[in-house]
Amino acid sequence: MTTAPFEFFELHVLRATRISPGFARVTLGGAGLGRLASGGRDQRIKLFLPRPGQQEVAVPVGAGTEWWPAWQRMDADERAVMRTYTIREQRRAPDELDIDFALHGDTGPACSWALTARPGDPATVLGPVEEDNGGVDFRPPTDADSVLVCGDATALPAVAGILAALPPGMPARVWIDVEHAADRQELPTKADAEITWLCRDVPPGPGGPRGATVDGQPAGAKHPMLEAMRAAAVPGGAPYAWLAGEAGCVKALRRHLVNDRGVDRRRVTFTGYWRRGTSEDDLIRQAIAAAA
Ligand SMILES: Cc1cc2nc3c(=O)[nH]c(=O)nc-3n(C[C@H](O)[C@H](O)[C@H](O)COP(=O)(O)OP(=O)(O)OC[C@H]3O[C@@H](n4cnc5c(N)ncnc54)[C@H](O)[C@@H]3O)c2cc1C
Repeated sequence: MTTAPFEFFELHVLRATRISPGFARVTLGGAGLGRLASGGRDQRIKLFLPRPGQQEVAVPVGAGTEWWPAWQRMDADERAVMRTYTIREQRRAPDELDIDFALHGDTGPACSWALTARPGDPATVLGPVEEDNGGVDFRPPTDADSVLVCGDATALPAVAGILAALPPGMPARVWIDVEHAADRQELPTKADAEITWLCRDVPPGPGGPRGATVDGQPAGAKHPMLEAMRAAAVPGGAPYAWLAGEAGCVKALRRHLVNDRGVDRRRVTFTGYWRRGTSEDDLIRQAIAAAA
C-alpha cells in the first residue's frame, strides 16, 4: 500500500452537528489543511482517532510512504483507531473539512466518537495532496452515456460528491438507501438526475426534495436498493455503474447488473463500505491475512 500522494494532517474538531436523525457532521480544521487537495466525487480518506482514554492520536506521522507497515508494527492497543471515510465537503478560507458519519448505534468507535465529538478534540486524516489521486474510484469511461449510482447511508457523502461532479445533462439514475425520511439531503447537480430515496421509515408515495420520490421499503427489507433496481428500467447504450454500501448488498447489486442486465463488468465500480457483523479492524486483519 502506497501513500503517495497522501500525507498525514493533524487536525481538530471545529464543530460537530447532528444534521439529521441518522447523520452527524464533524467539521475539522488545523494547520496545514490548505495542502489537502480533494479530488471530489467519492474521495476517500483514512481517519485516525484516539482510543478511549487517550489524548493523542498515535500514528506513524514520520514514516512517510512507509506509514502502512509502520502502523501495523505499532502495538494494537496503543495505535489510533483507523477508519475509512469520505470527504463530504472541503472549503477554503478558512480551510475546513466536513465528514458525515452514518450513525449505527454505539458499537463502532468511529460512530461513537462522532456522536460525542467536541470542539478541540484531535483527529488525524491521511488525505491526498494532489487532486488526481488513487482515493477516487468514480471513474466513468469516456464513452459513458449514462450513470447508475446506488449507495446506502455510508455512501451518501460520496453520492453527493459524484452528483456535484457530473457533467451538465448527463442522464443519471440514483438510488439512496437511508434509515429516515429526514435523512434526505439536497444534492445539487447539473446532471439530468432521477434520484430515488429509499427511506425505511415511510410508506411508499411521492414527495421529497428536488422532485425525488420516497419509495419507502418495509423495515428490515434485506436489500431495498436491489429490489428497487430490479423493478427499474436500466438505460441501454453505454451505462457506467457505481455501487457502494454494505458488502453483501453491493455484491448482489453488481451480480444483478452484470448477470441479469448484461452490463459489462468492466463498467461497474463496486465497493463494500462496511460488512454486517464485522468491524473495520476485522476487515483489515482479514485483508492482511489474505495478503500473507
Ligand atoms: C471508501 C469508503 C468510504 C466510506 N465513507 C463513509 C462516510 O463518508 N460516512 C460513513 O458513515 N461511513 C463511511 N464508510 C463506512 C465506514 O468506514 C464503516 O461504516 C465503518 O465500519 C464505521 O466504523 P465504526 O468504528 O463506526 O464501526 P466498526 O467498529 O467498523 O464496526 C462495528 C460494528 O458496526 C457495524 N457497522 C459498521 N458500519 C455500519 C453501518 N453503517 N450500519 C450498520 N452497522 C454498521 C459493523 O458491521 C460492526 O458489526 C466508508 C467506507 C469506505 C470503505
